[in-house]
Amino acid sequence: MLNASASASPSGYRVRLPATRAEAEAIPFAEDAFPDRERPPTLLTDEPDPSRPDDWTLDAYFADTPSDDDIARLYALVPSAPPGSATVEPIADTDWVTLSQSGFPPVRAGRFVVHTAAHADAVRASDIGIAIEAGLAFGTGQHFTTHGCLAALDALAKTHRFTRAADLGTGTGVLAIAIAKRWPRATVVASDIDPVATIVARANLAANGVRQARGRGAIDLVTAPGVEHPRLRGRFNLVTANILAGPLVAMAGPVAATLAPGGILVLAGLLTTQARRVAAAYTARGFRLVDRLDRSEWPTLVLERG
Ligand code: SAM
Repeated sequence: MLNASASASPSGYRVRLPATRAEAEAIPFAEDAFPDRERPPTLLTDEPDPSRPDDWTLDAYFADTPSDDDIARLYALVPSAPPGSATVEPIADTDWVTLSQSGFPPVRAGRFVVHTAAHADAVRASDIGIAIEAGLAFGTGQHFTTHGCLAALDALAKTHRFTRAADLGTGTGVLAIAIAKRWPRATVVASDIDPVATIVARANLAANGVRQARGRGAIDLVTAPGVEHPRLRGRFNLVTANILAGPLVAMAGPVAATLAPGGILVLAGLLTTQARRVAAAYTARGFRLVDRLDRSEWPTLVLERG
């Protein structure tokens, strides 16, 4: 089953399997895919040559020797991989260094590409690159909720021109930066309950050449729970909130009040089992569910204020 070549003292192993794009985009977190393993592998998917858009690969980096059961689990993640197609290669210390330096692989959602500095070359001329380093705040683009929100923003860009936006629970600032880059004349307020997140977001704004200021073409960063800040009062025509189902329901009243008529609200951080409850909290306040993007068990809801 395995095509393995051993070396004297490898520091780990890379298992590579072919995958389709759909499979690559649905790869779960390693901790979920390998719940019984003390040291789950690092799972990376790689985008293909543009001339072969469905030929993706899944690389699993193991710090110890992968068992047959590990390999079988990887095959289960990419059912299109033909039997015997997995390759197992020992990797040396230098490969681990390269892997950790390269950080997370770039994540693509429509025109948005979220990438670390090491992957800046993944951004093509027509893309909107968002440089984010892995750090203390949530929002590297790797999570299904961030991906769903970015894909929702990309779809909205085809039909909407937003002028006043707010991003609640901004984390790294990834969604606020996406909004500022996609609608460069908009004013954007980005908030987080966690002061560390606003510090991280400030650094990411600078890394992306986005001004931190009040006014058009800039992002105004504030630390606050929900919309409890004077700069979050008033009428926005776009609000994103990737938080959690509980707070999204609890603050439905004040969040709903920040949307102008016809305004768009993008909600994430909820599980499939919580989607109906979260949507109901907003439809009861005059919103209509206009889109839903499902990424694994993490849906993104797009609602419009009537
Ligand atoms: N917006 C980023 C993204 O889409 O990747 C980060 C989302 S992360 C799932 C949720 C963020 O919401 C965290 O940074 C957390 O500190 C923040 N948060 C949690 N509860 C909050 C609240 N009640 N008000 C504002 N921010 C909150």
